[in-house]
Amino acid sequence: MRHLAVIGSGPAGYYTAEALSRQFGDQVHVDIIDRMPVPYGLIRSGVAPDHQSIKAVSRRYEATALTENVRFVGNVSVGRDVSIGELGEMYDAVILATGAPADRALGIPGDDLPGVLGSAAFVGWYNGHPDFAALDPPLDVAAAAVIGNGNVALDVARILAKAPQEFVGSDIVSHAFEALGNSAIRTVTLVGRRGPHQIAMTPKELGELGHLARATPRVDPADLPPAGADAALEPGLRKSVGHLRAFSVLSGEPKEVTVDFDFFARPVRIEGEGKVERLIVERTRLAADGAAEGTGETYAIRCGLVVACIGYRTPPIPGVPYDERLGRFANQEGRIAPGLYAVGWARRGPTGTIGTNRPDGFMVAEAIAADQPDPAGKPGRPGLDALLAARGVDVVTFRDWQKIEAAEAARARAGAPREKFVDLAEMLAARGA
Ligand code: NAP
Repeated sequence: MRHLAVIGSGPAGYYTAEALSRQFGDQVHVDIIDRMPVPYGLIRSGVAPDHQSIKAVSRRYEATALTENVRFVGNVSVGRDVSIGELGEMYDAVILATGAPADRALGIPGDDLPGVLGSAAFVGWYNGHPDFAALDPPLDVAAAAVIGNGNVALDVARILAKAPQEFVGSDIVSHAFEALGNSAIRTVTLVGRRGPHQIAMTPKELGELGHLARATPRVDPADLPPAGADAALEPGLRKSVGHLRAFSVLSGEPKEVTVDFDFFARPVRIEGEGKVERLIVERTRLAADGAAEGTGETYAIRCGLVVACIGYRTPPIPGVPYDERLGRFANQEGRIAPGLYAVGWARRGPTGTIGTNRPDGFMVAEAIAADQPDPAGKPGRPGLDALLAARGVDVVTFRDWQKIEAAEAARARAGAPREKFVDLAEMLAARGA
C-alpha cells in the first residue's frame, strides 16, 4: 500500500486525491488533512455566497471523499499537531494543497488604519470563516473603496452593493446578512491602477453588476480606449470590456447605490484620524510595457472602508523552501523536495478558476509515480492515528463533517441552503447531535 498525505481539503486537495486514486487504484491510501473541522477550503469560505452554482462542485469532492481509499482528517493543524517532518516519516509523499489564504499587503502609508481590510479577511467574514467571524467591518460609513480590478474585487463590490432580498438562496452567514442589511454604504469605488483593457474580471461576473436591484455601475467614457481597439482583445476580455462600455452609457437616474469604476488610479496612501477617511490615489497612464506609470497628479477618494483585493499569498511552513517574491512554495512543476510536492495555488500562486486546479492533481500523481515507482512500506494511517491520539488531538472525520453539514442545513434561514457555524467549538459540538 502507498500512503499519501494531502494537506488542505480545498479544490486542489480534492482534485489531487481524485487523481491519486486514478493513478494508483486500490493500492493507495490518501489522507486529506485540514486544520479546519470542515472540508472544501475556498469553496466554503472563498467563493461568493450568492454563487451557489459554483459551490456545487463540492458534490464532486464529496464523491471522492466517500471512496474507500480517501479519508478526511479534519481539525488537525500541520505545524501545531504534527510537523511536516513527522508526516514525511509516515507517508510516502506529502502534497501541500494549502492554497493562498493570506492577503498580499498593500504596503502604503496608512494601510494599518482601522477600516482598511484585505479581501481574505472581508470575504472570510461574509463567508463565516472562523478566523474572521469577529471582523466587524465598518459599514456605518457612506462610501467604500475596493482596490483591484480582478474577480475578487467584483465579488466584494457586488456584496457591498446588493439589496437584502438579493441574498435569498445564498448561504451568506447571518452576521454578515444583518450587517449588510443595515449598511449605510451608498458609493462603492472600484479602484484600478491600470485601464479597462487591463482588467482581470470575467464577463459573466462583470455582467452581474448591471442587474443589481438597487445599484448602478458607472464608468467614465473618457477612460475607455477607442472602441475599435477592442477587436485585438481575446474574446473573454472583449466581452468584459463590452460590459464596461454599456456601464458608461447608462441613461436615467442612478439607483440608490453606485459602483464607480475609477481607472488609472494607483493607491499611494490612506489618511484619517484614527480610522480611514480618504484613499489618496495617483493618476496613472499606461507605459510602453503595459505597466501603470504615475503622472504625479493625486486626488482623494473619500471612504470609511477600504478593501484591498490585490491577490493572495501562501503562508510559508518552516523548513519548506519558499519563494518570497511569488508568495508560494518554491517548486519545479510541483516538486519541492524528495517526497514533498505542491499543487494548486500553493504551487502556482492565486490564478485561474477552480477547475484550473484539476490538472495539478494529475501532474503531481504522475510525478509521484515517476519518482517513487514502489512504496517504501511506511506506516501511513495507523502511524498518524497513533501520534494524534497520543497528543490528544480531536480529529474530525468525514462522517463527523456530514453531521455538521446536516446541522447547518437544519438551522438555515428560509430559502438558504445552510447557516454555517462560524465558531470552531460550535462546529465540533455539532458532531454530537
Ligand atoms: P487577480 O485576478 O490577480 O486581480 C488582482 C487585481 O489587483 C488586479 O487588477 C491587479 O492589477 C490589482 N493589484 C495588484 N496589486 C495591486 C496594488 N498594489 N495596487 C493596486 N492594484 C493592485 O486576483 P483576485 O481578484 O484576487 O482573484 C484571484 C483568482 O481567483 C483569479 O484567478 C480570479 O479570476 C479567481 N476568482 C474567480 C472568481 C469567479 O470566477 N467567479 C471569483 C473570485 C476569484 P494589475 O493587473 O495592474 O496587476
